[in-house]
Amino acid sequence: MPLRLALNYPVYCRAGVLSELGEIVANTAPAHRYAIISDESVAALYAERIAERLPRGASKVFTIPPGEQHKTRENWSQLTDALFRWGAGRDTTVLALGGGVIGDLAGFVAATFMRGVPVVQVPTTLLAMVDASVGGKTAIDTPFGKNLVGAFHDPSAVVMDPDVLTSLSPDLLRAGLAEMIKHGVVADSAYFDAVMREFPAIRTQRAAAPGLTELIAGSVRIKSHVVSQDAKEGGLRQVLNFGHTIGHAIERELNYSIAHGEAVAIGMVLEARVAELLGLATVRLEAAIVEAVDASGLPTAIPAGLSPDAVLAATYGDKKTRSGSVRYALPRRIGEMEPAGGQWAVPVTDEVVLAALASTR
Ligand code: NAD
Repeated sequence: MPLRLALNYPVYCRAGVLSELGEIVANTAPAHRYAIISDESVAALYAERIAERLPRGASKVFTIPPGEQHKTRENWSQLTDALFRWGAGRDTTVLALGGGVIGDLAGFVAATFMRGVPVVQVPTTLLAMVDASVGGKTAIDTPFGKNLVGAFHDPSAVVMDPDVLTSLSPDLLRAGLAEMIKHGVVADSAYFDAVMREFPAIRTQRAAAPGLTELIAGSVRIKSHVVSQDAKEGGLRQVLNFGHTIGHAIERELNYSIAHGEAVAIGMVLEARVAELLGLATVRLEAAIVEAVDASGLPTAIPAGLSPDAVLAATYGDKKTRSGSVRYALPRRIGEMEPAGGQWAVPVTDEVVLAALASTR
């Protein structure tokens, strides 16, 4: 049974569900051919298992090297050409088997191949399960910035099997925890508490922590609730950017040498501080977020040597001019965001952001 969600497509989240992939694909995205798109590392671990579940002779595995640097236009066109060479036509389903890089890239291949063919997302990192695989955003990176070319293309189904997380490195598992904390902060204090309770087990038992599957499902529920109300990021979906404005700025300033989850963790602490400085949030907000981030093993402060001015400048992204304020999605308390008159993002002056970046509480 899929999770009960307000989405137009089923999301399956259960240990062992990959063994049912054949049936799920036959019911949600039946096709003449099945293109399994993956990266080399994930394909070596799981592609054969996936192909065995599909009709004999109807599938082929297409790979790219692992890593964000391969989420490119070049790989989009190479994959697309490889599909044509294989003889794929409109009657093809793409299976995106991998982390968020593959979800985005294979999703974009599916969104554009012959004006769009179905995609089934099979996420294999915690980040891809709790965040990237649900919501329909697909993209590639460009020299002008990350995710700047893409499309909204909902999957026909999402199949997440937490068993595959056992092969994930501890660092990558931790990276996904930041988005789980974020989901609690933006939408659900009970979920936030549940995540906090499970952290000790996740830190020692990693993917084998007994409550992890239920927490992944909880995160998917929160994300799907938000995106079902605002598919194209016109309003409420902004709340999912909590921690990401400063987080992205830190990543950019450090040339992406810091993990995305670590940058988002620091971003959440600093943006909570911004909310407190503005008087929007309860006084305990930052402390509660610091406690959660700390318990997850992620960092709570910007790395030494990174100047507040540089991070502030980077919050303007690639825009050449600075207008004096950037918009932030800010919490009022754990589980509740500032609605800002339906905009769900508040303009914050440079002075306030600098004050938050400079203070070392
Ligand atoms: P990733 O896809 O690069 O995966 C990280 C690494 O883990 C890779 O080297 C991969 O080979 C390896 N890996 C994946 N699954 C594994 C497994 N089960 N066992 C062992 N190794 C495994 O990175 P990510 O962190 O999953 O995703 C980051 C990407 O997600 C970014 O490009 C980001 O823009 C995107 N993203 C998209 C959305 C969205 O809404 N579309 C949301 C959040 C993030």
